[in-house]
Amino acid sequence: MDCVFCQIIAREIPSDILYQDEEIIAFRDINPQAPTHLIIIPKRHIPSLSHLSEAESSLIGNMVNVANQLAKREGVAESGYRLAINCGEQGGQLVSHLHMHLLAGRQLSPQLG
Ligand code: 5GP
Ligand code: ZN
Repeated sequence: MDCVFCQIIAREIPSDILYQDEEIIAFRDINPQAPTHLIIIPKRHIPSLSHLSEAESSLIGNMVNVANQLAKREGVAESGYRLAINCGEQGGQLVSHLHMHLLAGRQLSPQLG
């Protein structure tokens, strides 16, 4: 498996892991686009949001709960943050393992695309 995020989960690539449970892991983005830039992913390799089955959709709620918890821990819950999931080529997804970005720590542009 040459998936970089699966390699992070397997500890084959070092990363700054901030959270993990049986389903989800979170770590700092290697190329942060804001003072706080975290990545929240399922441990199971799901290539993108469009590969998520209806039966698995509770995973997204659990990822949001983890993100909210981490936003508190990072001290950005009050100042604000953005959660983003890029899906597919035109959605700007570069790593083909479903992931949620948590961006915070500066005024983010209201423009999304
Ligand atoms: P995407 O464009 O696919 O939504 O975002 C992928 C994100 O993963 C990018 O922000 C990129 O900086 C991050 N990333 C890619 N490779 C690595 C890595 O090896 N370690 C960490 N911590 N982040 C990575
Ligand atoms: Zn993967």
